[in-house]
Amino acid sequence: MPADLTARLFAEIAARRGDLVRLTQDLIRIPTVNPPGRNYLEICEYLAERLGRAGFRVDLVRAEGALGDAPAHPRWNLVARAEGGGAGDCVHFNSHHDVVEAGHGWTRDPFGAEVEGDRIYGRGACDMKGGLAASIIAAEAFIAACPNYRGAIEISATADEESGGFGGVAYLAEQGWFAPERVQHVIIPEPLHKDRICLGHRGVWWAEIETKGRIAHGSMPFLGDCAVRHMGAVLAEMEAALFPLLATKRTEMPVIPDGARQPSLNINAVHGGAAEQDEDYTGLPTACVPDRCRITIDRRFLIEEDLAEVKREVTALMERVKDVRPSFDYEIRDLFEVQPVMTERDAPVVSTTAAAIKRVLGRQANYVVSPGTYDQKHIDRIGRLKNCIAYGPGILDLAHQPDEWVGIQDMEDSAKVMALVLTELLTP
Ligand SMILES: [Zn+2]
Repeated sequence: MPADLTARLFAEIAARRGDLVRLTQDLIRIPTVNPPGRNYLEICEYLAERLGRAGFRVDLVRAEGALGDAPAHPRWNLVARAEGGGAGDCVHFNSHHDVVEAGHGWTRDPFGAEVEGDRIYGRGACDMKGGLAASIIAAEAFIAACPNYRGAIEISATADEESGGFGGVAYLAEQGWFAPERVQHVIIPEPLHKDRICLGHRGVWWAEIETKGRIAHGSMPFLGDCAVRHMGAVLAEMEAALFPLLATKRTEMPVIPDGARQPSLNINAVHGGAAEQDEDYTGLPTACVPDRCRITIDRRFLIEEDLAEVKREVTALMERVKDVRPSFDYEIRDLFEVQPVMTERDAPVVSTTAAAIKRVLGRQANYVVSPGTYDQKHIDRIGRLKNCIAYGPGILDLAHQPDEWVGIQDMEDSAKVMALVLTELLTP
């Protein structure tokens, strides 16, 4: 790439620094809290106005009938497209516009978007309104510096990533918005940090396991069958056999943090016996043998593991417990599953981003894989598009925390990387 073009691009981005800050602030000040999914139309209309002014053709798409879509909280998405002067590839930046609840422990207004030094504070600052703003500034600066580019640039702002993405990227992918003939490269500006390329994520299996017994009077438990004791045996077998088995596995995927290079199992919840009473109930509980006990498990699996095998490990464990507890019965219900995804390192979007990081930051890119999933799963599985990464400013550890912030310099550096990627992929 000619040095004068790079200099022009960087100058266009530097000139937009104030705009980058204001845009990020404006986005944070629209509290798109999910659940339940507030102000989705408002943020899409704000972006439509902004991107329309920059010459993008804008579509607002409601995910009608998708999981979560309801009259009170419609699932609105925005897709904006700018066409260049000739045939070429399309580079798509996808950001989710929803944020998780503020929660407790803030020392600032979570939706005030206060600037202090190099930081902008607020819910969604790093996850991921800062990344969305950086991609918009990158696209606008690129179009100003290279008005004769080929192909197309797309920017989408999508709903519900924090709750599975079914009213967002999954819906758009089902409707063909990520079909390989219309989009060839996807960058998701999630907060992985400006020198990291995230190639994909581990798989997920959520399930509910229920043990079954028989209710009886608590003074004569021998007349009943205690489902909680059966569950205790299940948990003991997990400690004795399943957790040690998982500790023997390790992936070749560059998952961060290092602990997540093994499969993981979390027991999200346990419920058994009588339902808890309302806070204003002043009486005692009743004497009953619990006849049902349930746990919810969250199993994260590696690209080397097969989901059917992951499920078989749990069924085999339940059968071992059943062998020594004759009255024992159980059920396993699938709640949610996601296959692991990992983009190849020689994919065009990966190699161009790596080269751009080297150019902007003067150091080699780090390749990582996320321990948890994000919208890449839908682009990969439904959209059949493999040439996809997550790359964006912000520190992942700050996501969903009180006093979340994003660094202004980090956003500017990421915008430079994104603009260089556009130059590499869309100019001859
Ligand atoms: Zn996110």
